Amino acid sequence: MIITIDGPAGAGKSTVAKLVAKRLSYRFLDTGAMYRAVTWAAMQQGIDVTDHEAVSNVAAKIEIAFEDEKVLVDGADVTSDIRTSDVTVNVSEIADNAGVREQMVMLQREIAAEGDFVCEGRDQGTIVFPNAECKIYLTASAKQRARRRCEQMGSDGCEADFDTILKQQQDRDQRDLDRPVGRLLMARDAREIISDKKTLDEVVEEIIEVALSRIAAS
Ligand code: C5P
Repeated sequence: MIITIDGPAGAGKSTVAKLVAKRLSYRFLDTGAMYRAVTWAAMQQGIDVTDHEAVSNVAAKIEIAFEDEKVLVDGADVTSDIRTSDVTVNVSEIADNAGVREQMVMLQREIAAEGDFVCEGRDQGTIVFPNAECKIYLTASAKQRARRRCEQMGSDGCEADFDTILKQQQDRDQRDLDRPVGRLLMARDAREIISDKKTLDEVVEEIIEVALSRIAAS
């Protein structure tokens, strides 16, 4: 079975998706990490991220893999390299690239064909797995999302300025919504969860409840 969790940046999708996957003994697919991996590889090779053809060629040549909690590009561990602010600033341009998207969608379907997965991203319930049995759209207000991001960066030991984080997040939100291919959209058959006033546990429980009812119905 496939559970998709889509939503805007900072909604807590990765944390929630990992916990749901653990509870159900499913695997977890972080599709944002794949766009970040392509961004990192293009930047490493000194390629202009706005050159869509060159970046698409990079995506075609590199091998992206997941091993335990690690993200690998051509066998090298890039788990923390893909989370730097340089990558975050450039990733929207790569996610706008239709050639890259086509390749990532193919790879995501290949990976998830291996078993039961919780797939997290922007287009999982709409484009990648339109027939997924359980679809969740996880969101929260822009301020709440930026606040959580600041807290997370603080606990990671990074300096975080709320206004800067909020502005960067608004830019990413706009690009996610405006993207011609694979834009952020709630699937018609998704359960929307607005997490502002919910604890992490409450969100996880709600998703597990929806998933179990879909499993029982299938
Ligand atoms: O979720 P995360 O912030 O790591 O995603 C990085 C970027 O990849 C996002 O800004 C988003 O634009 C893009 N993305 C996407 N489609 C997905 C997952 C992420 O376009 N399925």
